[in-house]
Parts: sequence; C-alpha cells; structure tokens
Amino acid sequence: MTAQSASTGLNTFRGGPDERGRFGDYGGRFVAETLMPLILELETAYRAAKADPAFAAEIEAFQRDYVGRPSPLYYAERLTDHIREQAGPGRGPRIFFKRDELNHTGSHKINNCLGQILLAKRMGKTRIIAETGAGQHGVAAATVAARFGLPCTVYMGATDIERQKPNVFRMRLLGAEVRGVTSGSQTLKDAMNEALRDWVANVEDTFYIIGTAAGPHPYPELVRDFQSIIGQEAKAQLQEREGRLPDLLVACIGGGSNALGLFHPFLDDESVAMHAVEAAGEGIETGRHAASLTAGRPGILHGNITYLLQDEDGQIEEAHSISAGLDYPGIGPEHSWLHDIGRVKYVSATDQEALDAFQVCSRLEGIIPALEPAHALAHVLREAPNWDREKIIVMNMCGRGDKDVFAVAERLGVAL
Ligand SMILES: *Cc1c(COP(=O)(O)O)cnc(C)c1O
Repeated sequence: MTAQSASTGLNTFRGGPDERGRFGDYGGRFVAETLMPLILELETAYRAAKADPAFAAEIEAFQRDYVGRPSPLYYAERLTDHIREQAGPGRGPRIFFKRDELNHTGSHKINNCLGQILLAKRMGKTRIIAETGAGQHGVAAATVAARFGLPCTVYMGATDIERQKPNVFRMRLLGAEVRGVTSGSQTLKDAMNEALRDWVANVEDTFYIIGTAAGPHPYPELVRDFQSIIGQEAKAQLQEREGRLPDLLVACIGGGSNALGLFHPFLDDESVAMHAVEAAGEGIETGRHAASLTAGRPGILHGNITYLLQDEDGQIEEAHSISAGLDYPGIGPEHSWLHDIGRVKYVSATDQEALDAFQVCSRLEGIIPALEPAHALAHVLREAPNWDREKIIVMNMCGRGDKDVFAVAERLGVAL
C-alpha cells in the first residue's frame, strides 16, 4: 500500500482534506448560497485557532478539569483470558480498552463539543444550535452551552423525542430548548436538515455544533481534530506501558467520529491495522441495518459527498440499529476515502452480536458498555482468536451503558 495524501501528494494518509474540503472523491461543501460565507468564515476562524497555542492550551485545561482526561488505557485481562480459552495454541492477543466512557456525560461526544464551543466563543457567537438523534450529542452540546453561558437550541426528530425521554429531560435541565422536528422520518437526518435551515436563517449570531465527523467542510476536519485526542493519548499510553505500537485498533461507526479520533494519529503507522464496525441491525440481508459503507453507495447528504443508504432513486433510506447512536444513514467522508483506498477495513456486527458482547463485557470486566462500543467488542470477540498471543488490540470503549439498560432489559424480556 502506498501512502498518498488527499491534498498534497505527500507521503502521508493524514494530510486531508484538500483546500476544497475533499478526501479523494468525498467531502466538499454542498450548501445553500446563503450559508457559503458562514462556512468560509468558520474555516478561516478554525485555521487561525488551530495555529494558536493559546487555543490548544484552553482546550487542554478544560479536557483535564471538566471532561476528566486523559482517559485510562485499561488492560482487559479477564476478557483476554476468555478469548484465550477459545483460541488455538499461541493465539489470543491482549485486549486493551481506551476508556472514553469515563468522560463527563458518558461518551466521547464531549471532546468535540468542548472544542466547538471554544471556537464559537472565539468567533464571538452568542447562540448555539445542535442536532441530535438518541440525545447523546444533544446532552453534550447542552452541557458545554450551560458551562459557557450560551443559549442552546437542539433539533430532535419527534419520533426520537418520544423514544429518548430521559435525554430530552436532561437537555431541559441543562437549560437547552429541545425543538421537535416533524418532517420526513422525524429522526436524526431530518433534525440535521432543520438545524442547517436554522443556521441559514440566523447567520450572524449562531454557531452550529455538528455531532459527528460529517457535514460540509470544514466540519469533518475539525470534528476529527477534536476527537484525535483519543488516539494521541492511546499512542502515548501504550508506548509508555509496552514500549510499542498496537497491532490492531477497533472502533464502532455511527457517523465515524470516535473511530477517526482513535485511528487518525496512527494512519501513517504501517504496522497498525484498523477495523471499523458498522451496525448490521437485524442483518445486512434484511435491509434493516445502518451499514452505509458495507451496503450503501456514494451520494450527497448534509453538505458532503459520502457513502449513504439510499434506494434506486437516490432517496435516503432509514437506518436501523439496536443502538440509537449508530442509527445514521451516512458516514463521514474521510471514512469513505479510507474505505476506498483500503487503509481501514470496514466490517459490521448485528444487534444480537452486540447484545451478547454487552453481557460478556459486563460480567467479565465489570464494565457495562454502551450498545455502540458493544458492536466494536462483538467484532473483537470474533476476530481476536485469529491473532497471535503477543499481539495487542486497542478498542475504543466510547460510551457507558447506563443509557441502554432499559433497551437491553426489554430485548432480554426483563420487566423493570
Ligand atoms: C454518538 C455515539 C456513537 C456514534 O458516533 P460516532 O461519530 O461514529 O462516534 C458511538 N458511540 C457512542 C457512545 C455515541 O454516543
């Protein structure tokens, strides 16, 4: 495999996007004309912030004292032993968890929200908007808005409001206004359309905090940058502990931000393999899944070209997953590029596999994972027995399972 940059032709996988916001054929900024000046303003402001050591220092202080970083790199010894019992002689690598579920608000989403709100402050914006599906990003956005004293409006599909009442209440406790969206399928994709519309109408004072590494350029780049703290820490932590790089990285994929955050700092380390796990829902063959790269094709949604779940006429199809956080019919454009050039392998895990992994992890490690990283763990359980004992796998434990216990109880037929 030869390394090639999306932008400069330099010998790196980490140089993208190019000046048009492209990762190979993907990405770009396909937005309403009225939004274009804003997108350009955002890009200019982000370039300046990225080059300013004071901005980095400000983020670092809040990461430490407010978010709780660095998150530990944990050797999952009992899970490793469990895999070794089933693997052949000499097989069964050591499994480490990057514990981003220990962050304030319970997932990696706060890494991104913190970076974006500090950028909003820097730009002098006085109002925050966000979209949310399951409510996790909405809660993280409402959290930082409360901390920095900015009013916050969160767009959420009416169907999701009904399904995710505790998170709707959390957002309101945090002082955010939750606006129901009744267009389309009344879920995440429609909430994102509505947030983009709000942004067009309120260009002067409003900052839009997007929740994953998708949307028009420069969002995929800046979200990736804010999440890259995950991989930077993991790299330094493993180096200190074992004096070497991991052999395989594994993360789950909704829009792709936690996976890119773990992978990006390692993309040029040729010996490091990377597997990203999409939600196969009830099975790829049933059509009821959220596996955009496994079963979708390129199109335009939310301001960028990327792989999407769509029908023959290009209508966006609804995604299905037991995990609301993976329920997005698209994927960030950098993943589409990494998929096509073969640097990252994209696989999938079903609802049932995730549910099984969820229980294994809870019992063996005393860690109740979110259903999203339970998909990553399902893949680790399948894949690890094929790897040699001296190898090291690092999996991103990107969220905790408190939010999912009711959904899991229902699936297991337990009345609470
Ligand atoms: C939102 C969410 C995801 C999916 O988003 P990505 O951008 O793909 O990371 C995964 N895990 C958890 C815990 C989430 O809250």
